[in-house]
Amino acid sequence: MENHKGQVIVVTYPAQGHINPLLQFAKRLASKGVKTTLATTPYTIKSIYAPTVRIEPISDGYNQSGFNQAPSLAAYLDSFKTVGSKTLAELILKLNASAGSPPVSCIVYDSLFPWALDVAKEFKIYGAVFVTVSASVCSMFWRVVNRRQSLLMLQETDDDRGLVNMPGLPPLAPSELPRGLVNMPGLPPLAPSELPSFLSQPESETHSPYLLVILEKFSKLEENDWVFCNSFQELETELMDEMLGLWPLVMVGPMVPSAYLDQQMEGDIAYGASLWEPKADQCMKWLEEKALKSVVYVSFGSMAEIAAKQVEEIAWGLKASGLNFLWVVKGPEGKLPDEFLESVGQAGLVVPWCNQLEVLGHRSVGCFVTHGGWNSTLEGLSLGVPMVVMPQWSDQPTNAKFVELWGVGVRVKKNEEGIVSRDEIEMCVREVMGGERSGEIKSNALKWREAAKRSVSVGGNSDDNINEFVAKLSMPKE
Ligand code: UDP
Repeated sequence: MENHKGQVIVVTYPAQGHINPLLQFAKRLASKGVKTTLATTPYTIKSIYAPTVRIEPISDGYNQSGFNQAPSLAAYLDSFKTVGSKTLAELILKLNASAGSPPVSCIVYDSLFPWALDVAKEFKIYGAVFVTVSASVCSMFWRVVNRRQSLLMLQETDDDRGLVNMPGLPPLAPSELPRGLVNMPGLPPLAPSELPSFLSQPESETHSPYLLVILEKFSKLEENDWVFCNSFQELETELMDEMLGLWPLVMVGPMVPSAYLDQQMEGDIAYGASLWEPKADQCMKWLEEKALKSVVYVSFGSMAEIAAKQVEEIAWGLKASGLNFLWVVKGPEGKLPDEFLESVGQAGLVVPWCNQLEVLGHRSVGCFVTHGGWNSTLEGLSLGVPMVVMPQWSDQPTNAKFVELWGVGVRVKKNEEGIVSRDEIEMCVREVMGGERSGEIKSNALKWREAAKRSVSVGGNSDDNINEFVAKLSMPKE
C-alpha cells in the first residue's frame, strides 16, 4: 500500500460557514499526506475548488437546493440523516474498492450530522466530530443539554429570565433559571443576553427548531474519538482546562488559509468554496484606491437577514462617520435608502458578496463590522482587524462578548426598539478606527493575530494536534 496514513472522509453541511472550515481542515490533512475526500451535496460541489482533496457527493434527499426545498429544518435534517447515512456508507464502499488507496479509516463529520458517527461505528472506523462554533459555546450547549451543570444565579434580579426549558428533558426548576449572571466552568460570567440565542429565549416563546437539533448534536460528544474545534488553545485556555477528560476536545484552528497565517501550505490563498459569485475584482480595485486602514468593511455573513429598518440605520451611521466603507448587502439592494448611495459617492462600495479573506487581508481595511459568526470572528482575529460586533442570533451574542473580552473590538448596543441606531453605529466605528481606545484595540488585534499564526505554524499547538491525529490514523481502531 502506497499510503500508510489512512484515508479520511470529511462530511460537511452545505452552508458557507460550514464548508469553509471543513474544507480547510480537509486541505490541511491532505497537505500532511493523508488521502482526503470531502463529501457534500451534489449541488454544492460545483462551488468548490480544491485540487488536493477529492470531492464526492452524498445525498440530503433533495438534490437541487436542499434546505430551500424542505418544508422545515427538522424535515431537512431527517431526510439528510436517512439518505445521507446510506449514501455515506456507499461512498465508503466505493473508496475502499479503489485500487492503490488505503481503506477509509476515519469519518470527520460536521456536528449537524450526529448520524455520521453511527456510520463510522458500523464500519468500525474512527469517528470525529468537527464543531464549527467556539469551544466555549460548544461547552455551554453540552452542559445545558446534559444537565451536568445547573446554571447558577450569581445575581438576583426580577427581569432577564433567560433559559428556556429543554424539550425532551425534565423542566428546569425555577431556581435553575438564570436571572442574573450565568456562571459556568471555564467561562466568564455571562448575562442571559450573552448566551447563544437558542438558550436565552423567553419561556413563552416556542422552542426554536434549532434547539432540538442542538439537543441531538451535543448529546453524544463523549462517544467520538476526537472532538475537533475550529479554535486554538491560547484563545480558550481556561475552558480547555475545564474540559480536560470530559470529552476528547482537540483544538485545530484557526481554519484560515495558510497565506493569511503562515507559509506551510503552498498556494493556499483561499478557502476554495463560494456559494455566491464574489465581486472580487471590483472590491480589490476600489480598495487599492483607498488609504492605509481607512476602510470599514461591513458584512453579516451568509445567513443573517437584516431588517430594512436596521439596514437604513447602518447606512446613515456609516455615512455620518465620514469613513470609507465596503458593505456586503445580500439580497435585494432595494433595502438601501434611495438617496444613500448617491450621497456617499466614492466613499462607499456596496456589493452582494465578496471574497471576505481577501478584503480583510487588504491593507486599506481598518475595521470589520460583523455579525460575529464564528468564522468571521476568527477571520477578523487571525488577520488582526479590529471589530465592531452586531450580533443577530445563534452563537453570535456570545462571540461578541468574547471579542470585547479579548480586547479586539466593541459590541453595539440596541435601543429600546431593539434596533442599533445610526448614532450607535457611528460611535462604534469611530471608537475602533480612531477613538480613545483604538490604540489599545489595535495592539490587542496584532497580539492575537500573532497567537493565531503561532498555533497553526510548525510546532504550534493546533498543528501538533493535527499531526498527532494523522499519526493515529495509521493505527486500527481498537
Ligand atoms: N464570506 C465571504 N464573503 C462575504 C461574506 C462572508 O466569503 O461577502 C464568508 C466568510 O469569510 C466566512 C463565511 O462566509 O468564512 C461566513 O461564516 P460565518 O460563520 O462568519 O457566518 P454565517 O454565514 O455562518 O452566519
